[in-house]
Amino acid sequence: MIEEQDFCEFCDGVAEPARVQHTFERKGKEFRYENIPALKCNECGAMYLDGVAVERIEKEIAEFNLTSK
Ligand SMILES: [Zn+2]
Repeated sequence: MIEEQDFCEFCDGVAEPARVQHTFERKGKEFRYENIPALKCNECGAMYLDGVAVERIEKEIAEFNLTSK
């Protein structure tokens, strides 16, 4: 699946599809997400989170902050 690969910005490695965990911090609160679609470099381990997934998560966090007042 060549079209799903990308080259790393930091080294000559290839960034391959992976599922990663990442903690987002908003307004002093931490939101830990797992199984986020991403590309991960097979050389240096740099992660590139999927833009659509991040947008969805950011929206979720924003809604959480609105309803938790
Ligand atoms: Zn790399």
